[in-house]
Amino acid sequence: MSRFFSKKYDKLVPYVPGEQPQDKKYIKLNTNESPFPPSPIAQRLAREAAGDLRLYCDPDAKGLLEAASNYYGVSKDKLVFSNGSDDLINFAVMAFCDDEHPATFPDVTYGFYSVACTLNNVPFVTKPLKDDFSIDVNDYVGCGMTVMLSNPNAQVGLALPLSDVEKIIASNPDNVVVVDEAYVDFGAESAYRLVDKYDNLLVLHTLSKSRSLAGGRLGVGIGSKGLIADINTLRYSTNPYNVNRMTQAAGIGAFNDVEYFEKNRKTIMETRAFTKAELEKLGFTVTDSKSNFVLAGSSDIAGRELYLKLKDRGILIRHLDMPRIENYNRITIGSLDEMKALIAEIKDILGK
Ligand code: PMP
Repeated sequence: MSRFFSKKYDKLVPYVPGEQPQDKKYIKLNTNESPFPPSPIAQRLAREAAGDLRLYCDPDAKGLLEAASNYYGVSKDKLVFSNGSDDLINFAVMAFCDDEHPATFPDVTYGFYSVACTLNNVPFVTKPLKDDFSIDVNDYVGCGMTVMLSNPNAQVGLALPLSDVEKIIASNPDNVVVVDEAYVDFGAESAYRLVDKYDNLLVLHTLSKSRSLAGGRLGVGIGSKGLIADINTLRYSTNPYNVNRMTQAAGIGAFNDVEYFEKNRKTIMETRAFTKAELEKLGFTVTDSKSNFVLAGSSDIAGRELYLKLKDRGILIRHLDMPRIENYNRITIGSLDEMKALIAEIKDILGK
């Protein structure tokens, strides 16, 4: 740290993203990317947009708004885009949290929530997940704080039914409920259709997972008109050109190629069922994930040891040094062949 770094960041511990190794080729199951390339239409549109990179992009992302509005059936004034949904998490904390509106979220969830709170000097309260790693809805019903709800929940993969999510939204009318649905396309119910009913609902989506655009960086906020206007005030005050030309174009292709999206997410859900069953045969406890990852742990081997042994063998999974899940690993669902290779290596490591 330099002597110039503002003291207001004294307590900031930056988020540590998963490894993105450049040294050798791994079977990469550590950062919940898709094993499939982006839609061919998205790729073509991004390539074409590259020819116009000398020009600024459209700060209103009108083409992308049109495509997303058609896809979701939501009016354009209820949509906003960002440079990955991480940016929207930060905007939401900036916009809707302060001393009178502290944030609350589970003890085991996406680590970026607490980082965004510390960055913005916002107090937060964590609520422990139940022993089975599910969220206790009663912790959030009428809690009177800004709720950051990852559904399905990050790291764990379990999802709340929409009826429970609605209970949380309806019972906190004077606070914003941010429902981060980064993984919703892999088997959970989305809350976005409720944005016409509740003015305190902000739903976050990303094209990083189910639409294979992690490197393109495209997040989507779906919320009431007022909330979206607030986010746009902050967006225009930080970086109005926050979604670059190629990514806007790729996003249009990705939203329009519904067939490709449906095929890929179905395949991932099938491969997840295979992976869970195979890991269970080997004695692992595996969460009933509705995401493109599972959380798995075994009493036969420590989580960290398994992670290191697999890394040695060219397979990267995510070991999270978080209390309560330190003996587990989060394993992204890759292609069927990648998951077969993972299972074969684990069998060998465990001598089974
Ligand atoms: N929310 C959750 C729950 C996540 O796990 C992630 C991915 N790390 C994100 C948001 C951010 O995704 P992105 O910035 O790639 O859209």
